[in-house]
Amino acid sequence: MGDRLAIDGGTPVRRGMLPYGRHDVDETDVAAVVAALRADWITSGPRVAEFEEALARLAGVPHAVAVSSGTAALHTALFSAAIGPGDEVVVPPLTFAATANAVLYQGGTPVFADVRPDTLNLDTAAAAAAVTPRTRAIIGVDYAGQPGDLDALRELGRTRGLCVIEDAAHALGATYRGRPVGADADLAVFSFHPVKHATTGEGGAVMASDAGLAERARRFRNHGIASTPAERRDWRYDMVDLGFNYRLTDLQCALGLSQLTRLPRALARREAIAARYRAAFADLAGLTLPAVAPDVRHAWHIFPVLLDLERLRADRGAVFAALRAEGIGVNVHYIPVYWHPYYSERGYRRGLCPVAERAYERLVTLPLFPAMTDGDADDVVTAVAKVLGHYAR
Ligand SMILES: *Cc1c(COP(=O)(O)O)cnc(C)c1O
Repeated sequence: MGDRLAIDGGTPVRRGMLPYGRHDVDETDVAAVVAALRADWITSGPRVAEFEEALARLAGVPHAVAVSSGTAALHTALFSAAIGPGDEVVVPPLTFAATANAVLYQGGTPVFADVRPDTLNLDTAAAAAAVTPRTRAIIGVDYAGQPGDLDALRELGRTRGLCVIEDAAHALGATYRGRPVGADADLAVFSFHPVKHATTGEGGAVMASDAGLAERARRFRNHGIASTPAERRDWRYDMVDLGFNYRLTDLQCALGLSQLTRLPRALARREAIAARYRAAFADLAGLTLPAVAPDVRHAWHIFPVLLDLERLRADRGAVFAALRAEGIGVNVHYIPVYWHPYYSERGYRRGLCPVAERAYERLVTLPLFPAMTDGDADDVVTAVAKVLGHYAR
């Protein structure tokens, strides 16, 4: 029987697993890295500055500081914002742990505020309610690639005197009310991990409109040293902050520059696959799609769906296992950060953010990456319809 689930011994929709995300490296990327290898600089050379200029142009901000990962970029942003012990930073729980961890790196305290049930982005009202006299910053996360309520966050930041940081690791190339992501926050952060929109292997960047914040970020990336070798007249230099070695190499920036030339195409392809899914799933029982606000361009880093568990005879774990058995490499984004043992052992309790927790129990991320074919996407649709049809009440 064609309809018997693969997990019950039926024929899978696909042989081999379609991953949920995958990098896209072509021969021009390879040539760019090889050319960098043959040049005079292996690290901290002209390609770093070029990559930073390209990122600043893309995000519509005057300053970009390239660093060794998105996590390093978050840490750098929190340092730039002068977050320290005793300071509270409001963060959403439906994100990668690094968002909140970066607050801990600086000795600050992450305070979790719930997400909106429709978009799963930080709920500005919940963020406002979480602000105390000790709050110094708010980090918004552009969940799945959709910009959050940036005007509302900025207004909250302005009225309460808080630094607004945007974790835009999902949202390179997205726009909010016509403005590129990165320009609306005091500091914004990108990641160039292989599953993200453009990769440098590992890499990240901090975007800043304020020259002082950018200068602090630049120093922090290089041990807190106040000058670059080119600026020095002799051996002397001053280490003025306790920084790190968070530098990104010229080799990586050569790859990043080459990748950025294909970003418009990659975004268009992600949009096309998302549109195909949205059309196919619009009337499918058992599944709800997160809302897309009318005033954004969604960057579609991932394609999460919410299972209507009330209409299914299975929980998320069973649906997940059944889809994997069909050859669909589903994933889940995210376990609420404070559910992780490191956080629960430090006093964060379940129940803190009920909307995020309820969403987590129902979330499944479907495969979405530019190199996917329409046939791959159709396999995903077939497998989802097959599994949800089987488990329908
Ligand atoms: C990927 C990601 C990060 C971390 O980026 P790395 O480059 O992997 O260190 C941080 N926040 C979010 C939301 C991410 O998706």
